[in-house]
Amino acid sequence: MSHVLIVEDEAHLANGLRFNLEAEGHSVEVAGDGETALDRLLGASGDGKKARPVAFDAVVLDVMLPGKDGFTVAAELRAAKNYVPVLMLTARGRPEDVLKGFASGADDYLPKPFELPILLARLQGLLRRREWSRMGQSSELAKPPSAANSQEDDIFSFDGRTLDFRTLQLRVNANTIQLTLMEAELLRHLVRNSGRVVSRKSILEEVWGLHEDTDTRAIDNFIVRLRRYIEDDPAEPAHLLTVRGVGYRFVPEPAD
Ligand code: CA
Repeated sequence: MSHVLIVEDEAHLANGLRFNLEAEGHSVEVAGDGETALDRLLGASGDGKKARPVAFDAVVLDVMLPGKDGFTVAAELRAAKNYVPVLMLTARGRPEDVLKGFASGADDYLPKPFELPILLARLQGLLRRREWSRMGQSSELAKPPSAANSQEDDIFSFDGRTLDFRTLQLRVNANTIQLTLMEAELLRHLVRNSGRVVSRKSILEEVWGLHEDTDTRAIDNFIVRLRRYIEDDPAEPAHLLTVRGVGYRFVPEPAD
């Protein structure tokens, strides 16, 4: 059983989701605004009372909320080093919302209005991912069953860095950086195409599943962040190179 937080101010929608998630065997809490959600997730101190943070397995986070919006909630969560899987509900026809959502730390998105079975499937995907990640952290031998013969895909080492796609962790020297699912997926796409030029369009389509004509500059924000993680000098990248007018090229072992 998983503990899921739904952050949605429209009560009928929140209650419908709660009903269906509980029918699937999950335990559910609903927060009607972003501040309440952050209090639950990160703990709150106020009015002389101190509430402990609640460990959720996943968060369904609407973008349109009174007060702090979903982007802000996701960004504050990640800034507080909380990496609970976040499924963001965006407005249909606004790919910029999707990209903004990923940039703020969401792991997956669903445009509103959505079909309930799709939401349940996406949520299940995130919960499964979290389970794998836990298994990966508790034992190097623990593997997701479907990835039994793809160990070479799970760990990728380059130039003194190690990427673990099961735990979504990047190890650089003695530091371990926790990646969001989307940061890890973007890196995986670049790694798979090592040495080749990867266009922004292919990133949009293959990493984010977006086919719309959209402003691809949002991808650049992701690249800036990834460079901060993997480059010795993010201003002079050696691994994650810009190919002007097209996209990017990942170079695992630069020849100085
Ligand atoms: Ca809403």
